[in-house]
Order: sequence, then structure tokens, then C-alpha cells
Amino acid sequence: RGKRAFIAGVADDNGYGWAIAKALAAAGADILVGTWVPALNIFETSLRRGKFDGSRRLPNGSLMEIVKVYPLDAVFDSPEDVPEDIRTNKRYAGSSNWTVKEVAESVKNDFGSIDILVHSLANGPEVTKPLLETSRKGYLAALSASSYSYISLLQHFLPIINPGGATISLTYIASERSIPGYGGGMSSAKAALESDTKVLAFEAGRKKQIRVNTISAGPLGSRAAKAIGFIEKMIEYSYTNAPLQKELLADEVGNTAAFLVSPLASAVTGSVVYVDNGLNTMGLAT
Ligand code: NAD
Repeated sequence: RGKRAFIAGVADDNGYGWAIAKALAAAGADILVGTWVPALNIFETSLRRGKFDGSRRLPNGSLMEIVKVYPLDAVFDSPEDVPEDIRTNKRYAGSSNWTVKEVAESVKNDFGSIDILVHSLANGPEVTKPLLETSRKGYLAALSASSYSYISLLQHFLPIINPGGATISLTYIASERSIPGYGGGMSSAKAALESDTKVLAFEAGRKKQIRVNTISAGPLGSRAAKAIGFIEKMIEYSYTNAPLQKELLADEVGNTAAFLVSPLASAVTGSVVYVDNGLNTMGLAT
């Protein structure tokens, strides 16, 4: 049997989640995705109308099939956590069972188990504000959407991840070096995510022999990154200063993710793996 992957954080064909889905599909996995509820409609419509067909093409010429799209809002663990304003929001009204616990239950009912869990989502409402000007609410929201969301997903999916399975998330070097402009507590959220990777690798490893790694990716002009405001500058900075002076392709992150969740990486867990053209190794801008 082929492997089954659940990828949380796919809502268009530009981001890392999409590229990871493609790399896993190319390797023969069945693809399930979790799409943020407010983005669900446009994503499903675009998929249906063939807007992504060009970017669904796999190296063997076939088109990636997404077996099922699940609505997901990873800042809510179960229905009791959903406040009134979200419950009655018209962008949420058409969907149901989108809290983390319910999504895990739905996947279990539909397919029984998965082998691969991917977390490719982040959100920080105050990302454009310096940390020094970030509110408590904004900071905690960044941690909730970008860090705890991973703990919650792993917590709820762990019972249905087959032994020997693997999970991966996406992080950014702003966790360990100061990147002015990556504010609102997003740098803190990535630091938490990387630390949690080590602790969760131990816990999930001992409990079910499941591996937990994170990819520290270089800059990509995704929808989320464009919302931060300085992504073009970061891409240019990387091009100028990294050991490898080339564009960083989302597919390169996808391929590394496919390696890390495969048996080829069977002894790799708790790691932060850099896929950034080597930029993280530089100590002097050139
Ligand atoms: P993206 O826009 O493709 O992905 C982010 C996704 O998160 C979106 O689909 C969005 O709908 C979803 N999302 C936001 N809040 C959510 C919630 N509460 N519940 C469920 N989904 C939610 O952008 P991306 O840049 O590919 O981001 C994917 C991951 O890669 C993120 O963790 C990001 O921090 C990380 N990353 C990105 C870069 C970059 O330069 N783009 C660099 C390093 C790491």
C-alpha cells in the first residue's frame, strides 16, 4: 500500500505546503489537505475549475490528485473552543467539523490512518509590528496559530499515525537570529516550534516510533510571506549573500520534506534541517 499524507496549510499553489504535497504525490503518496476555513471556498473552486492544473503536473506527466480537502482552523482544538463571533461568521458558516479534534476524527472515519503529517501553516496578526510594539493578544495569537497548532495536530493525529510514520513542520531562521521586520511574536513562535520539535521527537518517538523534524526554509514569495511585506527584499538578500546564488524553489523544500518523511531518513528526528541555499551559515553579508 502507498503512504497517506495529511498536509495542513494548503490554500493555493504558491506555498510550501503545495510543493510538499506535490513531492509526496510524486513519490506515490495519497494526499489529503487541511485548508484554512476562510480560504476553503476559493481554493476548492480554483481546484475544480482547473486553475491549478498547470502546477498540479508531476514529473511523470500525471496530475497530482488531492484525495480530499478538509476545512481546518488550527487555532481551535474542539467545538467548545470556538467563540460566538467565529461560529456565526459567514466565512465559517458553510463548513463544519473544522476544529483539530474533529478533523482528526473525520480523517480516521474516512481512511483509518495516515503515515505522514505535515504542518505548513503560520499566522501572526501583528507580524508587521516590531516585537517591542506587539500586544499580548497579538503575541499569543502568533504562538497559538504557528506553534501550538502543531502540538495540537500531533496530539490529535498521533493515535492514527501508523508506527514508523513521520511528521514535519516549517520554520524560519528568525527564531535564532534577529530578522527586523519579522515581528508580532512570529520570531518567538518559530523559536517555540523548533524547541518543541526536539521535545515532541522524544515523546512521539518513545510512544510510537514517530519521527518529528522541522525544515528551516529560505524566503519564498508565498501568500503568507507577501503579507509580511518585505519578502522581495529577503529573496534579494538571500540571492546576494547565500553560498548558492540561485532562486530558492518551493520544490526544493518539497523534495527535502519528502526525504525527511521517507525511510531514507529513518534515523533523523528532532532536527532542524536548513533548506535555504546555505544562507544560515553566513556570518558576513557580502
Ligand atoms: P502559505 O500562505 O502557502 O501557507 C500558510 C497557510 O497557513 C495558508 O494556506 C493559510 O491559509 C494557512 N493558515 C493560516 N492560519 C491558519 C489556521 N488558523 N488554521 C489553518 N490554516 C491556517 O505560505 P508559506 O510561506 O508557504 O507558509 C507555510 C509555512 O512555511 C509556514 O509555517 C511559514 O512560516 C513557513 N515558512 C515560510 C517562509 C517563506 O519565506 N515563505 C520561510 C520559512 C518558513
